[in-house]
Amino acid sequence: MAREGVSKLDRELYDKVAIVTGGARGIGAAAAEALAAAGASVVITDVLDEEGERLAAHLRDGGCRASYEHLDVSDEANWARVVDKTVAELGGLHILVNNAGIGTMPDVETETREGWDRLIAINQTGVWLGMKAAAPRLRAAGGGSIVNVSSIFGAVGGFGGSIAYHASKGAVRLMTKNAALRYAKEGIRVNSIHPGFIDTPMIEQVKGTPAEEAILASTPMGRLGTPKEIGGVIAFLASDAASYMTGSEVYVDGGWTAQ
Ligand code: NAP
Repeated sequence: MAREGVSKLDRELYDKVAIVTGGARGIGAAAAEALAAAGASVVITDVLDEEGERLAAHLRDGGCRASYEHLDVSDEANWARVVDKTVAELGGLHILVNNAGIGTMPDVETETREGWDRLIAINQTGVWLGMKAAAPRLRAAGGGSIVNVSSIFGAVGGFGGSIAYHASKGAVRLMTKNAALRYAKEGIRVNSIHPGFIDTPMIEQVKGTPAEEAILASTPMGRLGTPKEIGGVIAFLASDAASYMTGSEVYVDGGWTAQ
């Protein structure tokens, strides 16, 4: 029997249009860069307009196809506007990377209702709204890929803090599996990626504190991951090289959850 390898072509995204949320910096920016480098037209979205516009211009200068749109992922009307504009201007939508998120520290007893509601609105409701807005367009395009950014803290209890963050990332993990089953026969794949500790502005708050030491000591590879090490896996999940993957949870964590 002839062997079917993963060809370079499987990873190419020249005819694809992608939306990346929280794409102005960190993991989202690395995902946008990896998708654009594979040939996709990338719509970078975020609430950090200046940084987002700057990244889009940088990618265009490098010969890639990229633009920027303001998108607060917790705002349903905002989602409709960005998805409609993307389809009108770029002819369709094939890839959605639900990456935007915030991190907070309060535990079960110190969390406030306000803090809880804000985080859940962005990290959890934002992912649902994104899938809701994008799925009909992916179906109309004949199929596509949704990559939801969860966390190792979507699967384990971590250090006993950040209750709202764990709740939201656990929900992202399970919403992914639910949506994967909903769309499995329609050619829309839905997978979650679970980064460990990645060197982005999100973990700036722990840099130089005992928490950073604890993170490094508890990570088998003994270092933080880089945004690029997550962006490449997101681009893989978005591509045809992952054509039989749906409902999967992919850990990219330097060995953290292997323990
Ligand atoms: P980051 O550098 O803070 O990037 C997140 C981006 O999302 C920021 O530009 C942020 O803007 C934006 N954002 C915040 N609220 C938003 C909203 N309502 N609508 C749209 N965009 C919004 O963080 P990151 O580390 O790259 O994190 C990206 C994703 O990876 C998050 O979902 C995070 O939970 C996940 N993750 C990160 C790590 C890690 O160690 N870094 C580990 C596991 C999972 P603002 O500056 O205004 O907040």
